[in-house]
Amino acid sequence: MTLKIPIYLDNHSTTKVDPKVVEAMLPYFSENYGNAASRQHEFGWKAEAAVENARKQIARLVGAENPEIVFTSGGTESINLALKGVAEAYASKRNHIITATTEHKAVLDTCARLEEHGFEITYLPVDTAGLISVADLKNAITNKTILVTIMLANNEIGTIAPIAEIGAVCRGAGIFFHADATQATGKIPVNVVEMNVDLMSFSAHKMYGPKGVGALYVRANRPKVNLTALIDGGGHERGMRSGTLNVPAIVGFGKAAALAQENMSMEAKRVAAFRDELESGITSQFDEVMVNGNQAHRLPNNSNMTFKGVNADRLILDMKDIAVSSGSACSSASPEPSHVLRAIGLGDEDVLSSIRFGLGRFTTAEEIDYTINRVVQTMKAAREKSLQLAHP
Ligand SMILES: *Cc1c(COP(=O)(O)O)cnc(C)c1O
Repeated sequence: MTLKIPIYLDNHSTTKVDPKVVEAMLPYFSENYGNAASRQHEFGWKAEAAVENARKQIARLVGAENPEIVFTSGGTESINLALKGVAEAYASKRNHIITATTEHKAVLDTCARLEEHGFEITYLPVDTAGLISVADLKNAITNKTILVTIMLANNEIGTIAPIAEIGAVCRGAGIFFHADATQATGKIPVNVVEMNVDLMSFSAHKMYGPKGVGALYVRANRPKVNLTALIDGGGHERGMRSGTLNVPAIVGFGKAAALAQENMSMEAKRVAAFRDELESGITSQFDEVMVNGNQAHRLPNNSNMTFKGVNADRLILDMKDIAVSSGSACSSASPEPSHVLRAIGLGDEDVLSSIRFGLGRFTTAEEIDYTINRVVQTMKAAREKSLQLAHP
């Protein structure tokens, strides 16, 4: 197989839609275009059956009951619904939320909005591996705490949090627990029961499904979670998210979940082996390249490296045939030095010297070899003209 350029190693930003997912979606644009809420004819029934099948596929992947899966427009909306929905539903009783400094902007910006509306937010620090301390969490809980929100896997450094343990603390304290599982789902086993979560956010486009569709898991029993809807009108999704369902996208999300379930263990092994090869291929050549995060508990497809003394944006510009993200551009539409890398203790200069490699289902051995060579050559060239590449 010939190598196709550019090489995509930015799978934490988004993933290619799996061709099998595209194939599953197509009939729902063409012949099966019904509205899933139309109860009186065949077109509606077919659309509804497809949506319910997708709901089952997603529920099965994460160990939920079908009605506990609520479709949304993506991870960001799921997180907004979980946090604002709980905050508003229980505001008269409790107004304190606990999160961590390394969360995705979808969580942090939502918390900031809630702060404007009178909620109190505690931001727990993390260690150099990107993990909060469970003791800190216990200390932060008060009789006003309504919700804890901690991500399952970090989108920049891949660190996997001990979600089941955190969930057990919350359950014991009678506090709702939301986990942002957007990066983890489909890559590592996720189970809402074993993980003791009450709410969990998912996004299709991070797991080889289409963009603009996601889901929120909302526990139905022991405890039942009440949510105030963000979007009213029509009472779709059991009143939690009104609006005509995006049937083709939902079908694609379901197919992506089924494919993930089928292939996860094999795929994780293959991708992690490529990742390890990439890291050793680069770090063996340079003493000044460090791997960030938690190497023991990390997503199989993540590698975040600091190229000490080199400006990552310049390095990336010099290897345009490889699509990666720098520490200044990983997590949001507005580039600023990564709050995650800062939170794990990197200085600003090291943050701006960091590159995130996100491998994926479609990454090949040839691409990894090419990338290692490209990075090594570019680094060596950068050293030679270090005056141009060094930080000003
Ligand atoms: C991508 C991502 C989101 C946002 O999901 P969208 O579907 O893009 O809105 C939230 N959290 C994490 C950890 C993510 O990686």
